[in-house]
Amino acid sequence: MGEFELIQKYFSRAVNDARVSQAGGDDCALISVPEGYELAFSIDTLLPDRHFFSDDKPEHIAQRAMRVAISDLAAAGATPFCFTLSLSIPEVNEPWLQAFSDSLYREAEFFSCPLVGGDTVRGPLSISLQVQGLVPKGKMLLRSGAQVDDIVYVSGSVGDAAAALHVLTENMQLNQHDQVWFEDAYYRPQAQIQLGEKLRDVATSAIDISDGLAADLGHICSKSGIGAELDLAAIPISKTMRKNFDVEKTMEWALSGGDDYQLCFTAPKKCQQEISKISVELGLEITPIGKIVSEHGLRSVRKGSGASEPIHSSGFVHFG
Ligand code: ADP
Ligand code: MG
Repeated sequence: MGEFELIQKYFSRAVNDARVSQAGGDDCALISVPEGYELAFSIDTLLPDRHFFSDDKPEHIAQRAMRVAISDLAAAGATPFCFTLSLSIPEVNEPWLQAFSDSLYREAEFFSCPLVGGDTVRGPLSISLQVQGLVPKGKMLLRSGAQVDDIVYVSGSVGDAAAALHVLTENMQLNQHDQVWFEDAYYRPQAQIQLGEKLRDVATSAIDISDGLAADLGHICSKSGIGAELDLAAIPISKTMRKNFDVEKTMEWALSGGDDYQLCFTAPKKCQQEISKISVELGLEITPIGKIVSEHGLRSVRKGSGASEPIHSSGFVHFG
């Protein structure tokens, strides 16, 4: 099977979106950005044995690739619009391609984000997705807007994906519910698109947690020229994590593990009610975990006592 036959067979499904005037099949894709919107775009490359296991199921790889890429749109408050795929594969393995393509199209459908073009080459396995999203003009969420006294929030729970990596690589035997929980955390991260959209008029800054809460909140701090104080006891840890791992380990993963793809964001105190409302509407836990301060860097503060300690994001953490 040659390149063109392959593209035709696996990556050329029709696009039904009036804003996409030309999808695959020509030299360029052509899209119209609706009046009053801006185009936000981002690219992510996934490599075997770095971002996924090379013997992972192709449907899992596609799912993860799509959600990791889409998560950047969520963090920007952008609504998914369309994406392109640059695929390097060592050989034509049809069952692999079929499963990968089916899964990719399922994800595309779920996020209303059609595949509009790409590139296909022979080489070491590598998957790059460039995602495009739409944001009302001037409304993109940045890392740089956090203000002193803002509250720091995080969605969902954190640390699960890092724990999942441990469960998978150590071949831990858990009960079925817990096994599925961790597999989902790793292979099916929940790109928080709806939350990002709702935060456009509320949050002062936002980021998706790909490198670990401490590191990613650290990016908000450095870009915004401020610091943050966290109440470590408030950081949301899932029940399944608590059940299977001790406090030290869960805290380390929560702060320094990556791949959660939850959103960490800041918002003024006056928005607390609005944020509770969003949490209820989305059925998504949103937890205040600290506040923005003028002193640079990340510190942990224990409720009640004024004592604070620096948090190091590189895996070693002071607490307790
Ligand atoms: P060119 O040589 O002009 O770069 P290609 O031969 O690489 O074009 O691709 C032919 C068409 O197929 C293009 O419209 C391109 O967008 C599309 N295409 C190639 N690879 C993929 C892919 N992996 N997924 C979706 N569309 C693809
Ligand atoms: Mg090409």
